[in-house]
Amino acid sequence: MSSLEAECFSDLQGACSSAFVQIRNRILKLWFEDPKKQLPPYNGDPALVIRTHAFLERHGFINYGIYERIAPIPTPPKGKQRPKVIIIGAGVSGLAAARQLQSFGCEVVILEGRDRVGGRVVTYRKGPYVADLGAMVVTGLGGNPVTTLSVQMNMELHKIKQKCPLYEATGNQVPKHKDEMIQQLKAVITLQEKLKANINKMSDIQELLQSMKVEKESLLLEKTKLSAGDASILQEFNLRRLNREMKLLCNEYDALVTLNSNIEDKLTQLETNPPSSVYLSVRDRQILDWHFANLEFANATPLGNLSLKHWDQDDDFEFTGNHLTDIRT
Ligand SMILES: Cc1cc2nc3c(=O)[nH]c(=O)nc-3n(C[C@H](O)[C@H](O)[C@H](O)COP(=O)(O)OP(=O)(O)OC[C@H]3O[C@@H](n4cnc5c(N)ncnc54)[C@H](O)[C@@H]3O)c2cc1C
Repeated sequence: MSSLEAECFSDLQGACSSAFVQIRNRILKLWFEDPKKQLPPYNGDPALVIRTHAFLERHGFINYGIYERIAPIPTPPKGKQRPKVIIIGAGVSGLAAARQLQSFGCEVVILEGRDRVGGRVVTYRKGPYVADLGAMVVTGLGGNPVTTLSVQMNMELHKIKQKCPLYEATGNQVPKHKDEMIQQLKAVITLQEKLKANINKMSDIQELLQSMKVEKESLLLEKTKLSAGDASILQEFNLRRLNREMKLLCNEYDALVTLNSNIEDKLTQLETNPPSSVYLSVRDRQILDWHFANLEFANATPLGNLSLKHWDQDDDFEFTGNHLTDIRT
């Protein structure tokens, strides 16, 4: 269960929480199989199914985007007005939020400062030429809600080719090995950053586990002092919660250990196969500058505003799978 789910379903224990996970997965599977049609709740099914469906719908895991409605949009009870919401900004977040709130029965007004909608999604057109000035790539399909939107809109997505040759101002292609040299440096820096982040995470987990251990010991001590009838339900609940959270943290820690050893292997591989030449010629510098410029484009800010730690903002939120794009103009 995610932390949000654990909060919303804190009353479920043991077999009931496994039942929730199974019902949730089943509902999500049904939604992803046909996201062009609203997925109705199962009236008459056990209460947990209806509650899980309501949770997934309320939090936008199902019945979002552009789909055929089966049930009418909810209306307020007699004598009450529709809730009114003002959204600031008609970027993709504002537009998606407006659509979702409308489907919940709200009256929505969007205020946009510019004379167009889309925010950082914008296409420049001149004659037969089209250039996207903002978002244009679906960065991985796994877990990405844009995947659902692309199915709903019959969008034809195409895998972005891995080959991305660079051209100099003369029109000549930059020799591959030159570009690879810079790429190798970038790869080493990226891996080192990942390693550093993992090690920090591991040390945070260790600290957390230590404080949980202390809390658990004091709870156990209190429990032994009380007779069986006096031990409170809250105490028992806290002990179980601690056990569960400690187990999850240990699993996370183990996964980080494995990840670190994979990263270290990759680093060793890169370091034992260095690029042939490490000096920067004028041309090398141009290629490096191209990569810096690309970084500025991707982060929409000058390099001076980027910290090494956050140079790639996508890192922590990366979706799995290929990067794709829609080729329609
Ligand atoms: C160059 C570039 C390339 C990108 N490429 C990709 C990509 O390939 N794939 C990808 O997934 N993402 C990409 N992104 C990121 C993606 O574009 C953004 O994450 C996304 O568009 C953000 O949407 P948003 O609605 O949250 O914000 P925005 O799109 O920034 O929308 C905010 C809106 O609010 C308006 N606004 C702000 N303040 C006010 C105010 N006070 N009053 C009224 N209106 C206000 C703004 O005018 C704007 O229209 C790229 C971004 C850039 C800049």
